[in-house]
Amino acid sequence: MAIEQNTKVNLLGMGLPALEHFFVEELGEKKFRATQILKWIHQRGVDNFDDMTDISKVLRAKLHERAEILAPEVTYRKYSKDGTRKWVMKLPGGSAVETVYIPEDDRGTLCVSSQIGCALDCSFCSTGKQGFNRDLSSAEIIGQVWVAAKSFDEPDKKRERRITNVVMMGMGEPLLNFDNVVEAMGLMMDDNAYGLSKRRVTLSTSGVVPAIYELAKVTDVALALSLHAPNDELRNTLVPLNRKYNIKMVLDACNHYMSRFSEKRVTTIEYTLMNGINDKPEHAHELADLLRETPCKINLIPFNPFPNSGYERPSNNRIHRFRDILLAANYNVTIRKTRGEDIDAACGQLVGQVTDKTRRSERFIEAVQLGQTAAELASARFERSSQT
Ligand code: SAH
Ligand code: SF4
Repeated sequence: MAIEQNTKVNLLGMGLPALEHFFVEELGEKKFRATQILKWIHQRGVDNFDDMTDISKVLRAKLHERAEILAPEVTYRKYSKDGTRKWVMKLPGGSAVETVYIPEDDRGTLCVSSQIGCALDCSFCSTGKQGFNRDLSSAEIIGQVWVAAKSFDEPDKKRERRITNVVMMGMGEPLLNFDNVVEAMGLMMDDNAYGLSKRRVTLSTSGVVPAIYELAKVTDVALALSLHAPNDELRNTLVPLNRKYNIKMVLDACNHYMSRFSEKRVTTIEYTLMNGINDKPEHAHELADLLRETPCKINLIPFNPFPNSGYERPSNNRIHRFRDILLAANYNVTIRKTRGEDIDAACGQLVGQVTDKTRRSERFIEAVQLGQTAAELASARFERSSQT
C-alpha cells in the first residue's frame, strides 16, 4: 500500500472506464472529470495539469501528487520529402520503438508498434530478427499517437486532424499484447480522444487464432491478416506460427470475426511478395481458390529489403502479373505503395532497437532447438495473459 502511494499513475494510457474509476474511487471526484482530462490529454496534447484551466487548483494539486501524463521520449525524428514522418521513441531499459506517419491523398495513416521486438520470428521480417524484449504498455502504445498528433500542432491554429487512420503494423504482434492494445485502440476510437471510426483502426495479425476469437468479443476494429502464402507448406516456412494455427483455422477465425457485423465488413489479406518465393502465377491462382469463402480485400506488399534478409523484392512485372491474376478472379486487390524509403520508414524496415536484456531471444532459440515451436511459445504466452 505504501508503495502504491509513492507511485504516480500514468493517465496517458487509460481509457474512459479506467479514468472514471480513478477519479471516482481513488480521488473521490465526479465522473465527468475523466472526460475533461481525456480531452485535455488527447485532443489538445496537454501533459501538464497546470495547463488544464477548467480544473480547479485544488484538484490540479491532487493530480500532481497522485498522477502524471508521461509520453515516451522521442530520441529521433525525421520528416521525409514525401511527407512521411518517423519517430524513434526511447523506452525505459534502453530499448526503442518506431512509429511512422504516411500521408496519402485522402488519408494520413499512422503505423503504430505494440511490442519491443517480436517473438514470432517470421523469416522475412526485420523486427522478428531483433528478438523480443517486452510488451508495450497502453500508455506507450497510445503515446505514439499522442506524439504524432502533437507534431502537427501549429501555433495559433486549431489542431488539424492529420491522422485519419491507425494501423497496428509497426513492431510486434498486437494480439500477443492483447489487453494493452485493446485499451489503446479504445482511446483511438473514443470521441473524447482521437475519435477515429472503427473502420479506420486496423489490427494486423500473423494469426493468433484464440486471440482473434477473444478480439471479436471486445472490439469491432478492422482486421488484417498477414497471410503471405496460399498453402500451409509454404506458410510454415515464412510464418512459424502457422505450424500451430494453420491457414484454415486462421481464415475461420477471421470469418467468425466479420460474421458479427450486419453491415459488410471484410478481412484485409496482407501478402508480402518475395521474389521467386511466393510470387509465382501458380501461387496467385492457389490464393484465388483459397480465399473463395473469405470476404476480403487483398493488399500486396512488395518485400522491403533489409540487410542480410535473404529475400528480394520482385520486379514490377512480376508484381503486376500476380495482381492481375487475382483481379481476373474478381478480387479487390491493391499494391501497397512504398513510402518513406529515404528514411527507412517503410513496412518491415522498422527495427527500433531491441535490448534483449532478459536473453529472451536466446532462450527462445534454445526452446525452438529443444523442439518447442514459435507457435507453442506464442500460444502459451497468450493463454497465460488471457488468464490474468
Ligand atoms: N505482427 C503483425 C503486425 C506487424 S507486421 C503482423 O505480422 O501482421 C506488419 C506487416 O508488415 C505484416 O503484414 C508483415 O508481414 C509485413 N512485413 C514484415 N516485414 C516485411 C518486409 N520486410 N517487407 C514487407 N512487408 C513486411
Ligand atoms: Fe512479428 Fe509480424 Fe514481424 Fe512476424 S511479421 S515477426 S508477427 S512483427
